[in-house]
Formats: sequence, structure tokens, C-alpha cells
Amino acid sequence: MNRTIKSYTLHNYQTIPQVASLSEELIHDIEVVGRVLPFKTNNYVVDELIDWSNAETDPIFTLNFPRRGMLEKRHFTAIEKLVDENADRETLNKKIQQIRLALNPNPAGQEHNVPYLGEIKLKGIQHKYPETVLFFPSQGQTCHAYCTFCFRWPQFSGMSELKFAMKEVDLLLKYLRIHKEVTDILFTGGDPMVMNASTLEAYIRPLLEPEFSHIHSIRIGTKSLAYWPYRYLTDKDSDDIILLFEEVVTAGKNLSIQAHFNHPRELSTNAVKKAISRIQNTGAQIRTQSPLLRNINDKPEIWTEMWRKQVDLGCIPYYMFIARDTGAKHYFEIPLEKCWSIFRRAYRRVSGLCRTVRGPSMSDHAGKIQVLGVQEVKGEKIFVLRFIQGRNPKWVDIPFFAAYDPKATWFNQLKPAFGEEKFFFEEKPGKLLVTKPFLFE
Ligand SMILES: *Cc1c(COP(=O)(O)O)cnc(C)c1O
Ligand code: SF4
Repeated sequence: MNRTIKSYTLHNYQTIPQVASLSEELIHDIEVVGRVLPFKTNNYVVDELIDWSNAETDPIFTLNFPRRGMLEKRHFTAIEKLVDENADRETLNKKIQQIRLALNPNPAGQEHNVPYLGEIKLKGIQHKYPETVLFFPSQGQTCHAYCTFCFRWPQFSGMSELKFAMKEVDLLLKYLRIHKEVTDILFTGGDPMVMNASTLEAYIRPLLEPEFSHIHSIRIGTKSLAYWPYRYLTDKDSDDIILLFEEVVTAGKNLSIQAHFNHPRELSTNAVKKAISRIQNTGAQIRTQSPLLRNINDKPEIWTEMWRKQVDLGCIPYYMFIARDTGAKHYFEIPLEKCWSIFRRAYRRVSGLCRTVRGPSMSDHAGKIQVLGVQEVKGEKIFVLRFIQGRNPKWVDIPFFAAYDPKATWFNQLKPAFGEEKFFFEEKPGKLLVTKPFLFE
């Protein structure tokens, strides 16, 4: 394995030796779908993760490579026609842009979470739950490879007006100085671990100063352990990253790596095992999360294996998410009842050490809503739900009920149970009850 990352996109993926083994049909689909959805993979994923002898059904292939079903048929046909006709760039780009906008590029009203500092809109910050601030460093708005299911994809496809990004760490620090209720800062992206060590240091070091003693935890959301574990082993600045992590821990902060793993195979290489252990030796913890995705990990056995492997490696299973309503969702989505059923069949087979995982959960405008299950109460079938996190913290952990709907794949498709007009946290049907504590708009 070559330890220098080599990226492949629509422009050069044909140079991947294994691609020669793909059927003409798969190549054609890449050529069409790859115009609309962002496509990037790398030599580690290609050489160590994908099973090329089963590319047709391989979950890791599907995780990185554009496939026919990821576009709706009418969108696929429209692009296919333009590609076949050799349409001029302008016509093609116009169509691509039009389709992208139809794919709900910015789901769950994330723009509502962007706070202000006086008159200044802090585009690189999201602050939805009182204790945790999300920070999107502008140099971290890409990833070592792109997940085909990703809801952050507008950030990669040049739709700059939708980017939540911010250069100045200054504004972040100013904001945190006046928000003493914040205990956690979560660096996210894209993937913050694509930044070089000195940029990351510039963001993190100031937070170790006494004036930020209210910040207890620094979290980094990253897919690097799955897509480029050599980030922690053999990159030019790998040792500096490790030293930075040690520095954070020595300063008395909790450092939590929120690692994205979608499939147990991502936990199986020597490189990932070494990288995990090297991070843990700094005193940092690794928590894991993934969405539940049709065509990738929609079997309870996969989750059982994944959680067990994570615990074997000293990681803490943290979240199972329900796929967001954006991009190629129709290809990955699973009805809520089935999500719960997969979760529970996996959960009941593992020991309590794996049961730190919470889910299946939807990150909706109102909060993180967990599907606790399906029940029947006096002859009416219902979903039992609860907020793991709420836009209003008072909503957290109160069970509530929605009418059973076997097809529903997201919260916005659910209606209150028992003929009620609205959910307990709504003022009018579909409208959030906005009592104080926490609105920036
Ligand atoms: C999930 C999430 C968090 C963190 O929630 P925890 O339960 O503390 O992990 C913070 N902000 C937003 C917007 C989130 O979606
Ligand atoms: S690593 Fe995360 S942000 Fe990057 S493409 Fe995958 S899901 Fe999206």
C-alpha cells in the first residue's frame, strides 16, 4: 500500500486498475450519476476496503461510487440524454444545477441554527442545543473520499452560497466568550481531519486557555479513520496531530473523536486498528456513529458485528441515525418501522458495553427524535418517540406518540396519534412551540 493519498474523481477514476473489471453498465452509470452527485474515492478505499470481485453489490463500492439508482429515473434519463448527445457544457451544467437544487441540498432547516454576534451572521457556526456548538472550519469542507449518501454534499459541489463556512477563528472565540452555557465544541465539516496539523492547532489551541474553562469537551467529527487511517500514522504531520491530541488531554479537556463508520469492513484493516490505538494512547476517546442505509448496512448482523468490533477496539458506539431527506435518499432510505426493527434485532444480541448506542434517531428541525418502537394502545397502532435532543431542552426525554404509518421514512410524514391535531411541542400543526429559551432567528 502506497501511503500517499491519491484521490480519484470523475476525471481520473478510469486510471484505477480495478475499474477495468467493472461492467460497461456500471461505468455508464458512474459517468451519468457522477455529474450530479459529488464523487471522490482514494487509493486506500480502492485497495484495502472495496471487494472488487463483488463490486455489483459491494457496500463499500456503493458507499463511494455513483450508481444508477442514486438518481431518480427522470433525472438519470435527462442527464444520460445530454451526455449521449454531447451537449454543450452550458446546457449540461444548467440541467445538473437544476437537478441538484431539486435534491433538497440543505435539509432540516440547518440555516435556522446559524447564530449572530451583534449584527454579524456567524456562517461557520451552528448552535442548536444550548450545550454544544458546531463549528465548520473553512479549510475542513472536504473529505478524504465522499459518501454517496452524504447530506453535506452541497459543500463539495461548488454551491458556495450554501456553504456554512467561516475563516476567522476569532468570531468563534468571541461567541464562546459570551456563551458560557456551551460546554462542548464539535468540529465538523466536511471532515476537519483533512486540515493540516498547524491549521487544526490554530483552531484548537486557543480553546485550551483558562478563559474557556467552560468548554469541557472538544469533539472532532471525522470519517478519516475509515477513509484514510494513515492520517494518524504516516502523513507528514501525523505526529503533530498526535501531539496536539495529547496537548488537549493534558490541558484537562475531554477529547472525543466522533468517528464515522458505516460498515464493519472499515474496522478490519491493520491501518485502522493501528490508527485507533494511536489516538487512544493520547488519552482521547473514540465514539462511533453511522446512518442506517439501504444497500450498505441494512441488516442487523452488520450492526451487531460493527458494534462488537468497535467495543473490541475500545471505541464507544454512540449514534445510529436515520438517513436524511436529501440527495440520493430514495436509494438509501428505510421505513421508520424497519429502522427500529433492525436496531432492536442488533441491540438485543449485544452486551451492555455495546448498548451505549442511541437510535435510530432523526435529526429534524425540532431536534433529535428517537424511534423507541411501534406499539398498540387500545387497538391503535402507534409509533413511540422521544427527543434525545430538542430545540427546546424541556422537550427532551418525554415520550410522545405518532400514528403508525408503515411507509413513513421521516418525521415530517408522521401525524400525531389518537386523532390529536398537533404534537405536544407544536403550537399549531407543523409549527414549533417557540417558548424562549433558545432561538436565534
Ligand atoms: C447531534 C447534534 C449535536 C450533539 O448532540 P449530542 O447528543 O450531544 O451528541 C449538537 N448539535 C447538533 C445540531 C446536532 O445535530
Ligand atoms: S465523510 Fe462525512 S461529510 Fe464527508 S462525504 Fe462522508 S458523510 Fe459526508
